[in-house]
Amino acid sequence: MLPDPSAETRFLTDRMLGTLSRYLRFMGYDTVSANGFAEGNAKEDTLLLNLALQENRILLTRDTELAARGKGQAVLMKSDDVMEQVQQLIDRGLIARRLRMTRCSLCNTELREATPDETEDADYAPQDKNGLTFFWCVQCSKLYWNGSHGRHISERIEQELKG
Ligand SMILES: [Zn+2]
Repeated sequence: MLPDPSAETRFLTDRMLGTLSRYLRFMGYDTVSANGFAEGNAKEDTLLLNLALQENRILLTRDTELAARGKGQAVLMKSDDVMEQVQQLIDRGLIARRLRMTRCSLCNTELREATPDETEDADYAPQDKNGLTFFWCVQCSKLYWNGSHGRHISERIEQELKG
């Protein structure tokens, strides 16, 4: 049975899927990337499978063998193109087509509302703050606001994806 797309599906991505991880975080999904782990672990596949089971995450991978080992806990990503990957997850009913500013795209930490000081101190924030809501990643000390993910990504999610 497929999970309810309104429920928060959680993901674990292999090293081939760094861009997809960022997109999933842009979309508000809790996504751990293998790129955050130390390299050179000969048993990384087993580590990923165990972590997926322990934390009830769906393992997304470009590796046919790993996907087969993961059985119901893993999904083989068919394309190298990030939009096709996102579409595959929508088609599988694993995610909804939406953008939510709830997680840091770099580190997956949940964002909180930014304080006025944090907003003022970020020289990359827009000068005109009217109508904007600001969020903060305590892990990266990074400021986000509605629109900061770039019009590009919002437009791609809204226009190119079906579902
Ligand atoms: Zn962060």
